[in-house]
Amino acid sequence: FDNLSQRLEGVWDTVRKDGKLTADNIKTPMREIRRALLEADVSLPVVRQFVSSVEAKALGTKVIKGVRPDQQLVKVVNDQLVELMGGQQEDLNDPKDGPQVILMAGLQGVGKTTACGKLALALQKKNKRVLMVATDVYRPAAIDQLVSLGERIKVPVFEMGTDVKPAEIAKQGLAKARAEDFDAIIVDTAGRLQIDANMMSELREVQATVQPSDTLLVVDAMTGQEAAGLVKAFNEAAEITGAILTKMDGDSRGGAALSVKAVSGKPIKFVGTGEKLEALEPFYPDRIASRILG
Ligand code: GDP
Repeated sequence: FDNLSQRLEGVWDTVRKDGKLTADNIKTPMREIRRALLEADVSLPVVRQFVSSVEAKALGTKVIKGVRPDQQLVKVVNDQLVELMGGQQEDLNDPKDGPQVILMAGLQGVGKTTACGKLALALQKKNKRVLMVATDVYRPAAIDQLVSLGERIKVPVFEMGTDVKPAEIAKQGLAKARAEDFDAIIVDTAGRLQIDANMMSELREVQATVQPSDTLLVVDAMTGQEAAGLVKAFNEAAEITGAILTKMDGDSRGGAALSVKAVSGKPIKFVGTGEKLEALEPFYPDRIASRILG
């Protein structure tokens, strides 16, 4: 955390003199931490909540001999970040019975369809027979995209064109998976450029129809400040079980990860790190914490 540590330099003589972190001597460093989080694109309300929880934890902490107080505080911040993001890696939920059903949600362009292919490939590598279901009836190109992803990894795609309602397509896709003994289905849904009431009610309908063991919200790591509002809207419309944070191979510091967890209470389960279908990794809170802190 060189970046943050550097910023925190210069305020430590006071802390050392006081012998512990106090409401007074913690003010300047907390402002720096706040700034660092905002620069990492953590949503403002989440930053506020986080900073006050760190403050509460840090207050009264005694300066340990031989450890620089700034490093001590950075550790408190880091631990708190990791804890807030769920502590450990969380995998997909186990299905209750029948095929594992994964419903994918998210705005247009975030990498949702790509993430379907990535998850399909990951499940296939675990020797599962996977079926992908295309329900984006607004964009024929999205159906074609899923079909061509499927061809690349040899995962079949169930589609009914654009004239059937998404929930009906999902229902028939699941019926096919049951009849043909697939282990898992991944349902791609229609995104929109912005949060949209129709998109949400459609998503809810598909969810009610197929009863997924996972509803994953796909979030572009570049979403920034808007992540909190986005997650809230989706989670209220169709309760999510987790998220996939895409485009983490870009410049983003990943602050959206903290926002997702803080707003929904649900974990990030995977991280997308490239356009290739192999570019999907489990989410490790400690790694993202260091990245957020810069
Ligand atoms: P959708 O509209 O949400 O289904 O988005 P797509 O799956 O079509 O992806 C939109 C664009 O983002 C495509 O050009 C993808 O190749 C790209 N993309 C998806 N995931 C990632 C990722 O993890 N990293 C990078 N760099 N690009 C990605």
